[in-house]
Amino acid sequence: MHPALAADLARLPELLAATHRTAAETLATLDARPVVPRAEPEGPEGPEPHHEPLPDRPAGADGALAAFQHRWAPRLSASAGPRYLGFVTGGATPAALAGDWLTAVHDQNSNSALDGAGQALERETVGWLRELFHLGPAHTGTFVSGATMSNTTGLAIAREWLGERLGVSPAEDGAAALGPVRVLSGAPHSSIAKALSVLGLGRSSLVAVPTLPGREAVDPAALDRALADTPGPAVVVANAGTVNTVDFDDLRAVAALKEHHDFWLHTDAAFGAFAALSPARAHLAAGLDASDSLCVDLHKWLNVPYDSAVQFTRRRDLQARVFQNAAAYLGPLGDHPDLVHLTPENSHRLRALAAWFTLRAYGREGHREIVERDIACAEALGAALDRDPAFRLLAPVRLNVVCFTLAAEPTAARLTAIREAIRSEVFVTPTVYAGTPALRAAFSNWRTTQSDVRRAAEALRTAAREIA
Ligand SMILES: *Cc1c(COP(=O)(O)O)cnc(C)c1O
Repeated sequence: MHPALAADLARLPELLAATHRTAAETLATLDARPVVPRAEPEGPEGPEPHHEPLPDRPAGADGALAAFQHRWAPRLSASAGPRYLGFVTGGATPAALAGDWLTAVHDQNSNSALDGAGQALERETVGWLRELFHLGPAHTGTFVSGATMSNTTGLAIAREWLGERLGVSPAEDGAAALGPVRVLSGAPHSSIAKALSVLGLGRSSLVAVPTLPGREAVDPAALDRALADTPGPAVVVANAGTVNTVDFDDLRAVAALKEHHDFWLHTDAAFGAFAALSPARAHLAAGLDASDSLCVDLHKWLNVPYDSAVQFTRRRDLQARVFQNAAAYLGPLGDHPDLVHLTPENSHRLRALAAWFTLRAYGREGHREIVERDIACAEALGAALDRDPAFRLLAPVRLNVVCFTLAAEPTAARLTAIREAIRSEVFVTPTVYAGTPALRAAFSNWRTTQSDVRRAAEALRTAAREIA
């Protein structure tokens, strides 16, 4: 063993303690740091800091920790903190963080039953999530890295289902065996088009179905007509929580169309599924269980560290047909295929452990409190901006996102000026909604409170005055 490795091994408890001190300090100052630090002034090589050469001689873990703290940590955003309201971004609950640390400590490759109880732990966690989202026992679930991968996996199963209907197997013979495919959706997330590109169905297989007037929710009558116009079986992507205005398709009305049309129902409920935790909002997600495949992100509103999501489906048999990884040492598929046969990944970390920890620690009640507090924060910011003559809401606050713009001259340039002015205090992301440049503030962090909402509203008010 190299002496540097031997020395670190001998001092392992001390090194872990030093890392622990650094982590605790980072988290203790999360609230005080700039939410998104300013970019470096551009040097000759662009906005990135000067890159160091690959070290030849070991500095040991201490040296790496010191270099990281000095050069990189100050340049990272406080996205784990309470006023990072960009995209849809969760933090990490204390228990989830502990689970994530132990994931690396145990360093499992939990893809087969040959090796320890990792798979069983994942199944227990999936069972808890199924209950949390009111899904029935017909749904099985697997962990993947994020909602994009969950959508891709769900649509891969949909592709195989289309093959079953047409008497071919895309998994064996390629997507071309299907002929042209139609994927119908009202306001799909950008990852759906990406998934269709990856799967060989093509981005152009996505057919936009009209939404209800002034809404991002699909018009069920228009979907009915689009299905009637589709020759052969189709795929419908229902959206349960759009990123701009958190609108929900009427999932029960969409599922009811199966009485007259032959389609696979994939639902993208990346963060919208969490509406099921709040009795006052559960109606938005009612009907999730009718999905043939379903995407739920966990690094958003469950507040586990990146990267984590679940893919649920009613057709594990088709899932295994797509993703089976036949090899002599892996054994037959059987009724309970190993995880290696169920997702694009073969090797993967024990990703379920962080979710297991936070659910074991805080339960349904604790996670409901996070969801309801975030919703109340979004409502409060929405109300504050609605009262402020400088701003205008572009949609009602349906769940946890405020979509708003400047009341006067809402140009992209002026909105960028607002974002730049506030970004050490609060981070929001730009969008365009119904043709109007806009900003979104999304609440999905377990740390956020009403005092953060007051700081965000104040920062926005001040910035609007400065650019006026
Ligand atoms: C975030 C999101 C995705 C993509 O999720 P990743 O975790 O970034 O891959 C897909 N759909 C919806 C509705 C989302 O909010």
